Amino acid sequence: MSDVIAKIPTDLSIGGSWQPASDGERFDVHDPATGEVIASVASGSAEDATAAVAAADAAAAEWRATPPRERGEVLRRAYQAIIDRRDELAEVIVRESGKSWGDAIGELTYSAEFYRWYGEEAVRAIGGISMAPGGDKRIIAQHRPVGVSVLVTPWNFPAAMATRKIGPALAAGCTVVLKPASDTPLTALLLGEMLTEAGAPAGVVNVIPSRRSGATVGTMLQDPRVRKVSFTGSTEVGRMLLEQAAQQILNCSMELGGNAPFVVFGDADLDAAVEGAMVAKMRNGGESCIAANRFLVHDSVAEEFSRKLAEQMGALKLGPGMDKSNDVGPVINEGAREEIAGMVDQSASGGAKVLVGGKSPSGPGWFYEPTVLSRVDRDDPLLAHEIFGPVAPVTSFSSDDEAIELANATEFGLAAYVYSGDLAHGLRACEAIEAGIVGLNRGFVSDPAAPFGGMKQSGLGREGAHEGLLEFLETQYIAAAW
Ligand code: NAP
Ligand code: MG
Repeated sequence: MSDVIAKIPTDLSIGGSWQPASDGERFDVHDPATGEVIASVASGSAEDATAAVAAADAAAAEWRATPPRERGEVLRRAYQAIIDRRDELAEVIVRESGKSWGDAIGELTYSAEFYRWYGEEAVRAIGGISMAPGGDKRIIAQHRPVGVSVLVTPWNFPAAMATRKIGPALAAGCTVVLKPASDTPLTALLLGEMLTEAGAPAGVVNVIPSRRSGATVGTMLQDPRVRKVSFTGSTEVGRMLLEQAAQQILNCSMELGGNAPFVVFGDADLDAAVEGAMVAKMRNGGESCIAANRFLVHDSVAEEFSRKLAEQMGALKLGPGMDKSNDVGPVINEGAREEIAGMVDQSASGGAKVLVGGKSPSGPGWFYEPTVLSRVDRDDPLLAHEIFGPVAPVTSFSSDDEAIELANATEFGLAAYVYSGDLAHGLRACEAIEAGIVGLNRGFVSDPAAPFGGMKQSGLGREGAHEGLLEFLETQYIAAAW
């Protein structure tokens, strides 16, 4: 075990102290590049979840009364700590999630920026005062923290999905319980410790990894002290949490699955589109909710686009992220690799052409080759699935209407990408696509200062920007006789 991993506390962080699970349960964390166990972590029980909520509740009054500037400064110090300890954090992320070194560094810059942005936003929870239209009263509207918040995060961005929630929650004056994904609890535990070092008082941030996610999260959502759940993960689990949250009418933010179309019109700069496609597809090895999942390319350029994309995908170096020269790491686990391989095989037997990749290399680790499939049939089941891996299926269209219809033919509406050499043409397409985030002539869209979130079954609410702060605030209106 590396020193960096060995130094991370592996118990539950509740009320400022580290403690084992109430029943002593633990679970293993694996390195996807080797399949080896790299750590054993306490697995929180329902009882631990209740203790974490109690700790967050006990810390709530003082934290909400802490001046916004001071709350912001805790985040500012936490931002600096991520920057200063970037390489150490990158190693933890690479070892537990399998991503490439470059992707880990990119994730950490993005993660830290949420703390910086919300450190600044902490002082901008600005309300308003107005005269009522009837002239009988003043309308005072002010924001206050929504209350104890349960944060549930996925494995694909172990740091960023946590800071994107913790940043605005703390800025707003909420205390939190974070339940990280079981595949990647170490980064979250380390981030929790770093927040304490940055000055977050005991109980403000509690971290409870658990293999029993249904029981722990379910228990918290039933606890009357909890007022909010912020979830990032699959639509399937999000739907279940919404049902549970209905019991107590919890405030809900949901960042769910995606199936992003990447539309290339005949008037696009094809080389720029291929370059953007590489980013939109291969950032994080394809394991991103906003990853381009379906390439929809105009008839006139589909073959050329597919060929150029295959050249670039074929040139990527596959291997463990701890070797910084590798471009693409393994996928998260054996099950994910089997699912990806199955989808590609099915698509190939259904008539799609494998231009590059299409195999699991031999040797240890859960690797899958960067793959391009061309001439994919519109009804291919692959196009209806979130691939979550390094596979790019290309299909073609012949008119704008057809492109938009195909782009919108999904229950998801998170991200989309549009390439066109004509700005008005491109903007018209962006507006016609039902997605919360659209990249126009750009493959990279994430920014902490931009509102991130989905339409349709991709979610509720937005993270990032000022809107992300509002998700952790609620408005009180005071009708004032003046
Ligand atoms: P997941 O299976 O839904 O898990 C997400 C989180 O929910 C994990 O912490 C998981 O814990 C927990 N969980 C699982 N079952 C639960 C239950 N019954 N009750 C309460 N919590 C439960 O998703 P994933 O496989 O980790 O991540 C991939 C998905 O996340 C993809 O669909 C992707 O699109 C989506 N995602 C969305 C965004 C976005 O911003 N929209 C960003 C990143 C990822 P365990 O790990 O312990 O099971
Ligand atoms: Mg999962």
